[in-house]
Amino acid sequence: MKVTVDRSACYGSAECAHRAPAVFGFEDGYGFVRPGQEETADDPRVCEAAERCPSQAILLGE
Ligand code: SF4
Repeated sequence: MKVTVDRSACYGSAECAHRAPAVFGFEDGYGFVRPGQEETADDPRVCEAAERCPSQAILLGE
């Protein structure tokens, strides 16, 4: 499953990058999925980051 960050929804709390730093980075005030880490949506840390993102900008899907 794929994980993406909706940049237009992200408001830059950086929590995802703290919670799962191997998958999420933080740059220019936005969280992003590190290149090559797009297929990690099944990882519990990624699910937790998505659940706890304060703006629900982390999307898990096919
Ligand atoms: S946790 Fe959500 S709001 Fe915070 S940086 Fe990550 S994607 Fe953006």
